[in-house]
Amino acid sequence: MIEIAFNIATIRKDFPILNRKVNGHPLIYLDNAATSQTPQQVIDVIVAYYQNYNANIHRGVHALSQEATDAYEAARVKIQEHFNIAKPHEVIFTSGTTHGINLVANGFTSLLRPGDEVLVSAMEHHSNIVPWQMLCERTGAVLRVIPMNEEGELVMEQFHNMLSNTVKLVFCNHVSNALGTVNPIKEIIDASHSAGASVLVDGAQAAPHIKADLQSLDVDFYTVSAHKICGPTGIGMLYGKEEWLKKLPPYQGGGEMIAEVTFEKTTYADLPHKFEAGTPNVCGGIAFGAALDYMNGIGFDQIVAYENELLEYATSELLKIEGLKIYGTAREKTAVISFNIKGIHPYDIGTILDKLGIAVRTGHHCAQPIMDFYQIPGTVRASFSFYNTREEVDKLVAAVRKAKDMLL
Ligand SMILES: *Cc1c(COP(=O)(O)O)cnc(C)c1O
Repeated sequence: MIEIAFNIATIRKDFPILNRKVNGHPLIYLDNAATSQTPQQVIDVIVAYYQNYNANIHRGVHALSQEATDAYEAARVKIQEHFNIAKPHEVIFTSGTTHGINLVANGFTSLLRPGDEVLVSAMEHHSNIVPWQMLCERTGAVLRVIPMNEEGELVMEQFHNMLSNTVKLVFCNHVSNALGTVNPIKEIIDASHSAGASVLVDGAQAAPHIKADLQSLDVDFYTVSAHKICGPTGIGMLYGKEEWLKKLPPYQGGGEMIAEVTFEKTTYADLPHKFEAGTPNVCGGIAFGAALDYMNGIGFDQIVAYENELLEYATSELLKIEGLKIYGTAREKTAVISFNIKGIHPYDIGTILDKLGIAVRTGHHCAQPIMDFYQIPGTVRASFSFYNTREEVDKLVAAVRKAKDMLL
């Protein structure tokens, strides 16, 4: 075991929810891939906003509106810096990853023609499949799937063979929420660009573990949800290269996104406001910035080293249970373990774990094609964060053993 460079006990004190009990047991929260918990530092920012300067932004001349606008725009800059984005107006606030993907998919409606191809990886979240299917229905473009192998890795050779000058767009997640696989997105981006295709990377599951450098990746679009990275729900960001954001039409019409409106014609506001119609989630945006501050305060190198250690430990302990199979054994993984026990439905294991205060996810994890690939109804998924401990892993393993004894 490598020396943990941060103090786990101190970190856990930042998360008030970790003190609660569930069904009489201390909560063991292992559903971090669905949503992360929120540290007091971020909760304080949310409370301070509503106590001191709640106001609509970009409109009022009064002090509160100015303070709220400044804090919101400061958060945009924090996001820009965190992801090494060239310009703040390439950061579009969204309600989350799903919103960001739909915004881009909608924007491509007039840019695709019948017979154009779009490639999507076999391990996508439904939110990175369905909007593209809808786009293909609207445009006559064809959706093709980059296959994966038993280990849960993309078959890159086939991907390279699928590229041609009819491929216009490629979609892939940076990290799979169902398997934990870290995909070789730099290779995917570079090869796609060489073939003349643009790339959207769904970074929802990568953001809590990987500090992506979007300029060096040279990706065209990248999406993130704040709630998976210690921020609140209902806020996220879409990164788009300036040239793309200028080219794509607005997604929604309304206030904030216009330059001038008459009944004859409306002209749109400059970036980023063109894509931010209506009153945004002001508090959420500010809290998103605070969440990045919090994570960076700990340091992503430390976070990743610690989580990898938990992953390794949990993997080897769980595999000691006879009949347990892990889905997703890629060489590059984040701290997600999807598993089943032979002869037991994942839901039944999840129910018993919940009785013992352990929160895991069961089911298809919004990635039904992956479950079809393995021919299973779903999995039990334990996903770890930097505030989880080895003791919690031990309790998980003991609880899974107990569930197995009860159910078999
Ligand atoms: C969570 C997740 C999404 C969807 O995020 P929302 O916040 O629900 O919009 C998309 N892709 C991946 C890989 C995810 O993990």
